[in-house]
Amino acid sequence: MARRQAPLDNGAIAERLDAFAVLLDLAGSERYTARAYRRAAETIRETRAPVADLVRAGRVQDLRGIGPGIAKRLRELVETGRIAELDALEQSVNPELVGLGRLLGIGPQRMVEIGNALGVRSVDDFREAARAGRLRAIAGIGPKTERRVLERLEGPTRRERRGLLLNRARALVEGIAESLGGEPAGDPRRWADSCRDLAVVVASDRPQEVLRSFEELAAVVAVVEREPRRAVGVTVEGVPIELVVAEPESFGRALLRATGTKAYVDALGPLPAAADEAGVYEALGLPWCPPELREEPFRGRPPALVELGDVRGDLHCHTTWSDGRASVLEMATAARDLGYEYVAICDHTRNVRVVPGLDADDLRRQADEIAEANEQLAPFRVLRGTEVDIRRDGSLDLPDDVLEELDWVQLSLHAGQREAAEPLTRKVAEAMRHPAVRCLSHPRGRIINHRPPNALDLEAVFEVALETGVALETNGLPDRLDLSGPEVRLAVEAGVPIVASTDAHSVRGLGNMRLAVATARRGWATAADVVNTRPLAEILSS
Ligand SMILES: [Zn+2]
Ligand SMILES: [Zn+2]
Repeated sequence: MARRQAPLDNGAIAERLDAFAVLLDLAGSERYTARAYRRAAETIRETRAPVADLVRAGRVQDLRGIGPGIAKRLRELVETGRIAELDALEQSVNPELVGLGRLLGIGPQRMVEIGNALGVRSVDDFREAARAGRLRAIAGIGPKTERRVLERLEGPTRRERRGLLLNRARALVEGIAESLGGEPAGDPRRWADSCRDLAVVVASDRPQEVLRSFEELAAVVAVVEREPRRAVGVTVEGVPIELVVAEPESFGRALLRATGTKAYVDALGPLPAAADEAGVYEALGLPWCPPELREEPFRGRPPALVELGDVRGDLHCHTTWSDGRASVLEMATAARDLGYEYVAICDHTRNVRVVPGLDADDLRRQADEIAEANEQLAPFRVLRGTEVDIRRDGSLDLPDDVLEELDWVQLSLHAGQREAAEPLTRKVAEAMRHPAVRCLSHPRGRIINHRPPNALDLEAVFEVALETGVALETNGLPDRLDLSGPEVRLAVEAGVPIVASTDAHSVRGLGNMRLAVATARRGWATAADVVNTRPLAEILSS
């Protein structure tokens, strides 16, 4: 990791803290320490006042998430231009080798041991030693492990890599693209719900300079492949990121290729060179295709997909009344500041148990708080809502009289996701028939990388949705994105309305609308298919 003497603006300070977090992770220190530094870096990036001034005035701990430990290191950084502990860590940890270890599936401690035993400190030397058959001589490495390491050194297969959540993948490629003046590409550009191929494409006549800047990024701990116009770097988590430096005249072609999917790109045939993507499509005689639709071969004219700017409100978010981190007024103010017309407060009900839930009395007390927020924020409208649990027997976890008072009722199943298709579908269908219900939340109940989708019979649910007017949600939580793109497409084809909501548990969480909308777009949804592109009057009257 190269050290640049940048002026200590907030961005530079945040970058140092991020670098520190990376090294703490690599050193195998307790995860929460590294996370605290990352969060502090985030806060500093979002702070408008110069943080160096706050440090000098002894006021930096006024900022959220900055305790005495981090404040002390910030003082050192502002006074001396460096953090001694960071320098020492960098010496002892050897980020490059540890990053390579993560890619190869070898833990940090073990990787450092292996590096010492081989007497190597760089990726190139490690590769050379491995190819020369020297791994076998190391205690604990048998022929099987050696073969696996050699194979992965030549490029791990997609199957071996676990996908990165979309929010993290977007943040990574967006950050790198911004630093290098390029464009995000790969799976995150198509807003894939789990990202394996991450790429950034830069247009430049000076590839050497771009490659050098890439290697110096805090996010890139090791570079495992290097060619004249291409490199593969690895993040601290062992996630490979491909960098392509295209000649400016053929940037469009390189971007299209790096965005994928391979099936989609291959089906286009030989790609003409062009400075931008529009030029490539034009030369092919095809209409431009939004990245979200580039999953399978497609040469037609895409529909006018829903856009973030079409969204008029968020219909699913939480507050401190249940497991959210912000008050009704804070969430509502943030939603208004996003340019929305309305937001629905949908806290949990009692049945959820693992987090605080509301009963009828709580909801009526919450009504007062919502009324106050409405007074302050008018004409913006805070809707009284709930995320009501479906009980084991298919009944709703709130009495009818309170359900009827509410403006927006989200329906949710939080337990029993492993139930067989028939009883599960019957229960959900029964609950959807309650006249107060407006939308079914995260219908498949999946948690990406942790829990597969439930067995819900979507066809049957679509039928009930059409009959009752209940919409289906595409949930913007990065580990849910539920319905998924392909499922949204089935719903849209069946004529079932979609709601794109965030399920935000914090002000920041409201920003996940872009993930919900992208997922709806991956399902070919137009604004007309998405309920929360409609004005408030229509939401209240239907
Ligand atoms: Zn939920
Ligand atoms: Zn929720």
